[in-house]
Amino acid sequence: MNIILFGPPGAGKGTQAKILIKTHDIVQISTGDMLRDEVNSGSNLGKTAKSIMDSGGLVSDEIIMSIIEERISKPDCQNGFILDGFPRTLNQAIALDDVLANKNIEIDHIIQIDVDEKLLFERIKQRAEEGDFVRNDDNKDVLIKRITVYQKDTMPVLEYYRSLKRLKTVDGMQSIENVSSDIKKMF
Ligand code: AMP
Repeated sequence: MNIILFGPPGAGKGTQAKILIKTHDIVQISTGDMLRDEVNSGSNLGKTAKSIMDSGGLVSDEIIMSIIEERISKPDCQNGFILDGFPRTLNQAIALDDVLANKNIEIDHIIQIDVDEKLLFERIKQRAEEGDFVRNDDNKDVLIKRITVYQKDTMPVLEYYRSLKRLKTVDGMQSIENVSSDIKKMF
């Protein structure tokens, strides 16, 4: 089973992805994790990506497509995969259509974890007050930028899949268990 999972930063997308890979024995393909690995390894790609990631912007579609195409071709993807954090732009979504067509791969479920962005902003402010930030790109200003970028660049991707009648939406304002059970009902 192949899945694309959407959700703004803080929507619980990573948590749901972890649940899905366990229950369906598929792999998680997180472009964010792959880029963080590149940054940690000190590769040229990592060096290019680091400052963009730290600022909350988007790494170029070219870089993202090259790492995705290579990753999807690996043998561990044969039983299925979940795309987490990709595609994030309309160009990436259209390039993904090509990659999948060439490899004869179909996406079974495209799922949006829908949250009230006003509430996300509230949560961020609260976490900032509690001093609860860990990642470089995980502070108040950068998170606000990341959500704004999501609205500007990724919402059109959701509209694209919605127009193709492919998009399924789950209410992300519920508990982790209820979001997970609603996703299960979609399959
Ligand atoms: P994430 O862990 O998915 O939130 O990704 C962390 C950061 O990596 C993002 O804020 C972007 O800078 C970069 N990134 C991850 N995935 C993509 C993508 N599909 N397109 C562009 N940039 C990405």
